[in-house]
Amino acid sequence: MQSKKAVALRAAWGGKPCDHPAISKEYDLGKQTGDYICGQCGKSISPRERKEIKDRAHS
Ligand SMILES: [Zn+2]
Repeated sequence: MQSKKAVALRAAWGGKPCDHPAISKEYDLGKQTGDYICGQCGKSISPRERKEIKDRAHS
């Protein structure tokens, strides 16, 4: 997901709680940033946070 789109998603989501069910890689100007974005709330998620979220989802 483009980081610009994530900014718009975050604004639309309005800071409500989210369990980040749809995480995708973040891109800026066509390059991966190494971080991830939640497709629901637009939060920027580090690889470490992503692992924690995945571990939680599978437990
Ligand atoms: Zn989320």
